[in-house]
Amino acid sequence: MRYLEFKNATVIGAGIMGHGIAEVLALSGLNVVINDVSQDFLDRARQNVQTSLSRMKESGKLTESTMNESMSRITFTTDLRNAVSNADIVVEAVPEVLDIKKTVIKDVESSCPPGAVIASNTSNFRITELQEGSSRPQKIVGMHFFNPPVVLKLVEVVRGEKTDDETFESVYELCRKIGKTPIRVVKDSPGFVVNRINAPESLFFCLLLEKKIDTPDAIDRFARGQGLPMGPYELMDYVGIDTVVHSLEYYAKEISPEYGKCSLYKQMMDQNRLGRKTGHGFYSWTNGKAQIPSGEQSSKVELMDVLAVELNEAVKLIEEGIASPDDIETGVRLGMNRPFGPISVAQGLTNAEIKKKLEDLSSRFETSIFAPAKSIAEGKLKEVISGKFQARESQKAEPTSQKTQEEGAVVIKKIDKVAIIHLNNGRLNLLNGSVIDGLEKILHELKDDRDVNVVVVTGKGSVFSAGAELSQFFSGGIDFMEASRHGQSVFRMLSEMKKITIAEIKGYALGGGFELSLACDIRVSTPDAKIGFPELQRGLVPGWGGTQRLAKLIGASRASYLILTADRITGNEAREMGIVTRIFNTESIDDETLSFAKELSRKVAPGAAYLAKLLISKGSESSLDDGLTMEAISMGLVYGTEDLKEGITSFLQKRDPEFKGR
Ligand code: NAD
Repeated sequence: MRYLEFKNATVIGAGIMGHGIAEVLALSGLNVVINDVSQDFLDRARQNVQTSLSRMKESGKLTESTMNESMSRITFTTDLRNAVSNADIVVEAVPEVLDIKKTVIKDVESSCPPGAVIASNTSNFRITELQEGSSRPQKIVGMHFFNPPVVLKLVEVVRGEKTDDETFESVYELCRKIGKTPIRVVKDSPGFVVNRINAPESLFFCLLLEKKIDTPDAIDRFARGQGLPMGPYELMDYVGIDTVVHSLEYYAKEISPEYGKCSLYKQMMDQNRLGRKTGHGFYSWTNGKAQIPSGEQSSKVELMDVLAVELNEAVKLIEEGIASPDDIETGVRLGMNRPFGPISVAQGLTNAEIKKKLEDLSSRFETSIFAPAKSIAEGKLKEVISGKFQARESQKAEPTSQKTQEEGAVVIKKIDKVAIIHLNNGRLNLLNGSVIDGLEKILHELKDDRDVNVVVVTGKGSVFSAGAELSQFFSGGIDFMEASRHGQSVFRMLSEMKKITIAEIKGYALGGGFELSLACDIRVSTPDAKIGFPELQRGLVPGWGGTQRLAKLIGASRASYLILTADRITGNEAREMGIVTRIFNTESIDDETLSFAKELSRKVAPGAAYLAKLLISKGSESSLDDGLTMEAISMGLVYGTEDLKEGITSFLQKRDPEFKGR
């Protein structure tokens, strides 16, 4: 796909979000024009950007020259026509009022270059709605930043019904280039991912008060006690009660009238109790802080109530084809500033537990919003969160499943007789339930694939894997043990593959990542890769075969040293210890590993390679006599194979062999 080039950006609306978005774009080297209806707003925005850049400089995040260059890339104007005349992309961040947004889009369209993209920072409106009446709807896309844009990494890139591929993917790529973590919202939905998952929660917290179950401060103390940065009522005060009311009204119109059930927030809005911005809401606010009385934590709500409501909505998003499980997980983590999202919560719970919890909530609060989503009602929770449901649905829509394969937590590429398995989970390729399940699925597919002789396991980007995702949610020790057993069984599948397996280590191979590499036959590495077992420093033990495989590979003494000290070693040191057998250049390891794998896939007979693997691994667990007997039997097995004949003939004819695996 050819991406559009964005050099000149215009931001319409210089408010809370607009000035922050402009700052992010200018910091990444784009020329930015900010437009607003009055000079006063622009002056305030200029001051806000300057203050923010200066703070970054003072904290050492920016040099003085970067600060000055970024500031000089931004110009400010009240003239919309001039502001957009040279824009490659226009980001609108005007108030969340549909008519205002539609008028702005119309005005922009009449003055911007024909190829310019128009991105909306709307929090809730469907992009398809913003496309209505547009002369070039294919160029309109959602680009939903989170507040404050300079700090928060998440951007939801939203596809309206008419957005074209080029616009959608180019904006996604732009977000990556400006240092954000974008997620793809591939189908339009009110509130997209994060706000949509928040919607039933807002209702839940309203109903808790309306039913007089407990007080806001007791519930907020409970939430903070669970490690959340803010309690739910404090957060609503911070965001603005009017914003919550308008969102719920929109959801009542677009998703379910039951979002209109809550009258408390509306009463607060009518009394001008909007929270921080009016000085009082659930709490009174002084110096930007909510005055929350001290007291006992609520004992009448359970964390699981909130997590179940969230998970239920996440499942509905997957069922509706709005975003992938991985993107939903990333969205909730980054957008709600949580250590784990609904998908990892689901991995630690059974379908029956969640279903029961939701049925109880639905009848207790008399709303179908909390009733189990279809897949949970049908016992298919695990299938849905593993991405299998989505893959099946997208296969219905498009005959090739290529797209889904490229976007999963583990992806596979086949070149000649080599399969390259890429872990694909963020920059560090952390291992979680989705990655392990994805790996299992791919290993199943590869197991009997006669077109593949060699399998390379590595990470997308510059990191192999920095280990297991420690923030995953587990409901107890048994559950944690099961996760360990499951990982062990998948790594065992890898170690027992009928193909030669190569771990390509770069960046980090830590903890579970290191264990994954140990399940391969051969390890190659960059000289500077960092390898080790940090588990003991976290109060854990290596749980995916590390203690066993490392000791077998390099002996108990050196394995004990590495595991018990939790020290990291480099790729070069790992080579000296015999863990890694080849070192490739950091810049070219992907290419060098591939040529090595291709060479192996041609050079050695696949059947004989499988037998040799078995002899080495099983032989080390047997007596010398038994090992030698197995070796002799293997000689008998290869005798008469076509590959043996080809091996000898090609040798005599002084040409490369062409093995058939027979
Ligand atoms: P804001 O009220 O702080 O800023 C809006 C700005 O738009 C104001 O400066 C206003 O003068 C200007 N404006 C109004 N009409 C205009 C027009 N016709 N042309 C040019 N400028 C115009 O609002 P905000 O909080 O920055 O929100 C902007 C958008 O971002 C909304 O769609 C909102 O839903 C979304 N959003 C807000 C947040 C947040 O936390 N505030 C987070 C994510 C997304």
